Amino acid sequence: MMTMSKIKFRVNDPKKRELPYAPERSYKSYRSELMEDFQGRCGYCNSYFGIIKKDYHIDHFVPQRIILKSRTHNHLLNDYKNLVLSCPTCNGSKSGKWPSEDPDKSIVSEQGFVDPSDQSYSDMFFRDNNGRIHPNESNLANYIHKELKLYLRKHQIVWSIENVISILKSKELNDENEMLTLLLSLLTEHFEIDKFN
Ligand SMILES: [Zn+2]
Repeated sequence: MMTMSKIKFRVNDPKKRELPYAPERSYKSYRSELMEDFQGRCGYCNSYFGIIKKDYHIDHFVPQRIILKSRTHNHLLNDYKNLVLSCPTCNGSKSGKWPSEDPDKSIVSEQGFVDPSDQSYSDMFFRDNNGRIHPNESNLANYIHKELKLYLRKHQIVWSIENVISILKSKELNDENEMLTLLLSLLTEHFEIDKFN
């Protein structure tokens, strides 16, 4: 049986700065800080924004639906600490999902969400050689993997394309033929192009 090699889910963890709550600022005004702190990557699936052309979204970790119902946590709508840089796919998968009606309860009996700016989020997942995201053994990791649809092939493809681009960029190529040969070998390695005809 082939053993699956485990590749670290993300190379760098996001480094989210501490910003005091500023009531006059809308969450939409934090885009550049989020881009920088999440290093241009989706907090949930780690896809690099350079690969996905659509604008990245600003996700509320505690969903707006829960915040508005709570009446006591309205600041979370525009509080930097509740914001996550997110690709459109993950933002859509997470939408209003939350395991309780309480903004402070992000996990209930091993179901719920871990803030992706927390380092522990990195340890919940790994990638296989093909870039597919897998959960670790815990029930919580399995829950997040399922609810955020981290199993989608799209996440795997984006990861592979990023790899191909970084390998291409790291080589000093003398002519076009050389580049095409390398590109073809990279595509063969990362995609199933032998199934083309
Ligand atoms: Zn994502």
